[in-house]
Amino acid sequence: MKRRNFIKQTSAFTGLAALVQQPLLAQQSSPTANFPVVISTWKNEKANEAAWASLQKTGRALDAVEAGARVPEADPNDTSVGYGGFPDRDGHVTLDACIMDEKGNAGSVTFLEHIMHPISVARAVMEKTPHVMLSGEGALEFALAQGFKKENLLTETAKKAWLEWKKESKYEPKINIERHDTIGVLALGTKGEVSGACTTSGLAFKMHGRVGDSPVIGAAVFCDDEVGGACATGLGEFVLKTLGSFLIVELMRNGRTPQQACEEAIMRIVKRYDYKTFQIGYLAINKKGDHGAYAIQKGFNYTLTKEGVTKVIESDYYMK
Ligand code: ASP
Repeated sequence: MKRRNFIKQTSAFTGLAALVQQPLLAQQSSPTANFPVVISTWKNEKANEAAWASLQKTGRALDAVEAGARVPEADPNDTSVGYGGFPDRDGHVTLDACIMDEKGNAGSVTFLEHIMHPISVARAVMEKTPHVMLSGEGALEFALAQGFKKENLLTETAKKAWLEWKKESKYEPKINIERHDTIGVLALGTKGEVSGACTTSGLAFKMHGRVGDSPVIGAAVFCDDEVGGACATGLGEFVLKTLGSFLIVELMRNGRTPQQACEEAIMRIVKRYDYKTFQIGYLAINKKGDHGAYAIQKGFNYTLTKEGVTKVIESDYYMK
């Protein structure tokens, strides 16, 4: 949708939303409620299947999003998450992850090395510490104390790609629109409760110490059980600057559909920044199980699992 139409439609909608500001309870008890459901960024069928299998076992959205996120984390061929993730420009694989449940609990790890499943460490931070976020050495110490294994996550393929990059790059981190497979995953459990997770190795060949949006609650993931959830992928700096997932949930709270909320959050970026050189994709789900997605550029897709059936859907995007 071009900007003018978007503004026309959203302002018409905003007027309408102001008149019908009390839809939440009605939404929650809607006879059309559509859950359990799992939705994740990019082509992540195996992750969704694992999330779905987990839902069959415990019914809980939190277990499902963790199970889903663990799949690309352990996949050496996924070069932007966990094991096999491309390293920073100094050759370190540094990982960011966060998780949030339906009660508003949240946990995250950032700048974590050597642990294959940062999402599970994030969940342990949430459940076993009084904190929300642990970083670097401290996050690693905590993970080891929790029984996680210390491993080398830099695969031969990732090392080769890094050495190639070093030859050409002049040591400058570069934004690459196409190379984003970070998983953000949202689920509604069998009781309709919402949870979300995100995990990544961040931008390939980033500066050592760089942390993106993925461990930041409100940026990469936000859930509120009165409303729904949202998650993000793409160039984290701009998700951080606009607090995208929190924004989307608040827009849904104020009456937007998940689709309208994702579009408006993309517009916040498009209006203020030189968006043509990078990609951001947003996903959102409300308590009825309605979902939406929107991206800046062509090429963003996402994976939906409902009633045990998984499909990949091409997202709509701004830069037509
Ligand atoms: N959002 C992630 C980051 O900026 C990257 C991605 O989505 O691929 O670290």
